[in-house]
Amino acid sequence: MKIILANPRGFCAGVSRAVDVVEKVLSLEPHPVYVRHEVVHNRAVVNDLKGKGAVFVKELSEVPDNAVCIFSAHGVSQEVQEAAKRKNLRIYDATCPLVTKVHREVQKASKNEVECVLIGHRGHPEVEGTLGQYRSQNAKIYLIENVEDVMNLQVDNPEKLIYATQTTLSVDETRDIIAALKEKFPEVAAPKKEDICYATQNRQNAVRNIAKMADILLVVGSKNSSNSNRLRELAEVSGIDSYLIDNTNDIELSWFEGKKSCGITAGASAPEYLVQAVVNHLQAQFEHCEIVELNGVKEEITFPLPKLLKQRQKA
Ligand code: SF4
Repeated sequence: MKIILANPRGFCAGVSRAVDVVEKVLSLEPHPVYVRHEVVHNRAVVNDLKGKGAVFVKELSEVPDNAVCIFSAHGVSQEVQEAAKRKNLRIYDATCPLVTKVHREVQKASKNEVECVLIGHRGHPEVEGTLGQYRSQNAKIYLIENVEDVMNLQVDNPEKLIYATQTTLSVDETRDIIAALKEKFPEVAAPKKEDICYATQNRQNAVRNIAKMADILLVVGSKNSSNSNRLRELAEVSGIDSYLIDNTNDIELSWFEGKKSCGITAGASAPEYLVQAVVNHLQAQFEHCEIVELNGVKEEITFPLPKLLKQRQKA
């Protein structure tokens, strides 16, 4: 079996920062430290942080007044921020700065009463947070998920219209949606810089590359991880069998019947040790394994820690 490792794969700068924020807050603040929503969408990461003392909650109503609370990398709506103030919570905001960039675009549109079409997945916490940045009384934000939604979309003011996107979508699918949107609303304005983030794009490009040389692709990532799901779908669209796995327990040997090469990648929220465990597992299953690590874009982006955390570290 030839094992081909995608590059880049795994943790992005936003996820590294969010995990770092939780670990540092846990070491600086009295426990319990609450985290609103899974800080990143990965079961192993969340379980590890639980073991270190983090208390994960779905809603702020579960957090007592005056407590310490961390917002996840996906970001939160303005309503959640206001609720946190009313409860006098000490908030450490682990929202990825690239999500905050999209929030700013939507806030600006809301302030200027420019209508906004958000392309994203209904119910995803990032989408909820971004929708919640738009608070105009006189203009609207519309959520669409696919080209069909564009066909059915009616806006109040097509001359004053922008679009924004969730950061972890399929680059190809989003291209089609935007093309349909531009055809229907020729005046629609694009964001200054693409909203789909560098990490999503790089990981999708790496999968496109690996799909040309592997018979099967394993994507290490959790079921609720948007960018991991997109990687699996992309491999399938490229014509190879692809499986999303949390860890080695999810692997079935029948997947490898008649296959000679297996690509491995990991979503932006999956840690490298899970990838290495998958490699070790395959090596134990197959008598002869050759491991190839592909070259890819070098990612050197890092994001600074939130201001409050830096201040607390200095105090
Ligand atoms: S996937 Fe992109 S937007 Fe999401 S946390 Fe990582 S860098 Fe930020």
